[in-house]
Amino acid sequence: NDASTVFDLVILGGGSGGYAAALRGAQLGLDVALIEKNKLGGTCLHNGCIPTKALLHAGEVADQSRESEQFGVKTSFEGVDMAGVHKYKDEVIAGLYKGLQGLVASRKITYIEGEGRLSSPTSVDVDGRRVEGRHVLLATGSVPRTLPGLEIDGNRIISSDHALTLDRVPKSAIVLGGGVIGVEFASAWKSFGSEVTVIEGLKHLVPVEDENSSKLLERAFRKRGIKFNLGTFFQKAEYTQDGVKVTLADGKEFEAEVLLVAIGRGPVSQGLGYEENGVAMDRGFVLVDEYMRTNVPTISAVGDLVPTLQLAHVGFAEGILVAERLAGLKTVPVDYDGVPRVTYCHPEVASVGLTEAKAKEVYGADKVVSIKFPLGGNGKSRILKTAGEIKLVQVKDGAVVGVHMVGDRMGEQVGEAQLIYNWEALPAEVAQLIHAHPTQNEALGEAHLALAGKPLHMH
Ligand code: FAD
Repeated sequence: NDASTVFDLVILGGGSGGYAAALRGAQLGLDVALIEKNKLGGTCLHNGCIPTKALLHAGEVADQSRESEQFGVKTSFEGVDMAGVHKYKDEVIAGLYKGLQGLVASRKITYIEGEGRLSSPTSVDVDGRRVEGRHVLLATGSVPRTLPGLEIDGNRIISSDHALTLDRVPKSAIVLGGGVIGVEFASAWKSFGSEVTVIEGLKHLVPVEDENSSKLLERAFRKRGIKFNLGTFFQKAEYTQDGVKVTLADGKEFEAEVLLVAIGRGPVSQGLGYEENGVAMDRGFVLVDEYMRTNVPTISAVGDLVPTLQLAHVGFAEGILVAERLAGLKTVPVDYDGVPRVTYCHPEVASVGLTEAKAKEVYGADKVVSIKFPLGGNGKSRILKTAGEIKLVQVKDGAVVGVHMVGDRMGEQVGEAQLIYNWEALPAEVAQLIHAHPTQNEALGEAHLALAGKPLHMH
């Protein structure tokens, strides 16, 4: 393409949302330009989903080697070599990165490296070049947030970006924020040998999850020696001689070598020409309708930049929706209620649908029932020595409207839970399906058997 090309679609930001739109758009015959200032793949691949899960897996290997005697296997755990962990993590990223670059090239997407700025409703300027499109997709994502007066220095007070490349295992760490990112780092660091304390202002860890899941996670963390302080908000952080001291609103103090600020992520939308071109925003998030259209007819937006769930698979789905809509296909809005959520700490927390509290709000307290199947009744979970529960929330005599799972590898079960939820399957119908024995997946079947009134391995 030369400078006079008018693309069908110009995409600003090559993360999960942007690259999914590019790949699908090109597949459907659109002439696509993809502009990325940093690395194709964005947060998820380089600073998010993938590197954190690699760290968590390395942590699991460390735990297993430390605890291998319980399986009758003798090893001598000598510690964690962070350089080696980073090498493994970076190899995973590099392989995926190469694959993604190959896909973008093979679909004839025009990839433009550089920092872009929306210069009109149909163009983006990059390094003095104007890239014109019939349509523009904003997908500039998000970055870690902090609190006023809490400056991230990248050394003692750090964000998830720094935590992913820390060259040492901190002796002690305070994690500010007990949401998904906070508990994942807390879990990995504990496995690596740190003393970890999580500070969460709300009443529970992973507060968006069903209260039962939060409580099970708290029990498991307690058992692992991960400390946490719930229900009191952060007030200030100060440097000590060799670390950081955190004071909470009630005066309680905590000290550690590093403080990880994991209080959420804010949209990347300032100084990029969005406001000047009339794009409606709310607290920095770009506002969109259910088809990801902004108020400017030629501009769409997806991913962490818009106020929907900040998840890579949500960004993918939104990006695909935009590409298909622009290619003239019939599209349906993303069903946000049906999005699976997984927190990949040890043990994992996975869910789809409504929490019990929310279901009671929606359907009325007397119309909602729930059942819990403990993983202690599941053969494979016993073999793996993982504890936890699968909880189902059902509208009385109707479909299951919430599935909440805690236990190692429960993230891998969320696919079936999602099908059950989205197809509004009745417990009796799911109970009819034969689940393979012995798998952890069987526990999901057992929970449905119980809900259908015929529990097999449960009183
Ligand atoms: P991003 O991935 O942030 O991509 C935006 C891209 O735009 C970036 O590459 C950026 O460089 C580029 N950009 C920004 N401004 C410009 C500009 N002016 N010009 C050119 N390019 C620009 N989600 C999950 O689903 N599962 C997980 O397990 C998970 N784990 C996570 C762990 C961590 C530690 C973090 C931080 C996030 C995690 N997430 C996870 C969330 C997930 O990473 C995001 O939801 C996802 O990356 C959002 O995609 P996006 O395309 O909207 O934005």
